[in-house]
Amino acid sequence: MPPLAHDSPEATASAGLTPDAWTKVIFLEDPVCDGCGAGFEMDGGVFAAPRCAACLAQPYAFARARAACVYDEASRGLILKFKHGDHQPFAPLFACWLSRAAAPLLDEADAVVPVPLHRFRLLSRRFNQAAEVARPLARGAGLDYLPDALVRQTHTTTQGGKSARGRRLNVKKAFAVSEEGRRRIKGRRILLVDDVLTTGATAEACARALIEAGARAVDLAVIARVRTARELPT
Ligand SMILES: [Zn+2]
Repeated sequence: MPPLAHDSPEATASAGLTPDAWTKVIFLEDPVCDGCGAGFEMDGGVFAAPRCAACLAQPYAFARARAACVYDEASRGLILKFKHGDHQPFAPLFACWLSRAAAPLLDEADAVVPVPLHRFRLLSRRFNQAAEVARPLARGAGLDYLPDALVRQTHTTTQGGKSARGRRLNVKKAFAVSEEGRRRIKGRRILLVDDVLTTGATAEACARALIEAGARAVDLAVIARVRTARELPT
């Protein structure tokens, strides 16, 4: 991977990101929660716990997570552009952002697996944006890239507009590990890659499928995550 950093104006310009769009992106820097990648508010006090209250109370199915930036109006616009295949130069830029944000996870990972798109949607869209970012990320870190390890089992409807519970039910059995994938993930620590983390339902379903199929552990890297940690039902 070329030595680009998200704080290099040249790198962002060469990917076609205007300085104006770039300065609006809120990058997530340490300290972040080790479990979900949410930024911590520092009130000048000493920061002690490595995990947010939600992750301590109810850990996700993935072991650790990192996001490059906050999912807000600014990053949503960029990710949507990318998702619809209009802006492929964003792939190496996003991979670069992630190689920095997810560095602690990449250090421990054995292989990189993108969240798959359903075949129907793969046909209607030009590409799987998670895979487009995962590939250069894996290559840059010298890790195995396993794009076909996870497969969608059933056609899930679009997640937009569904409640958190609805999303969980929708994706619960949505993923399986392929035969070839099973051989290649066995006993290994997997870095799962997706574009956005909102409720975590999709990533958890993928992580569970990988662990059931023999992965030693699964971590998650996303381009963007919602700003605050999830709220747990009381
Ligand atoms: Zn957390």
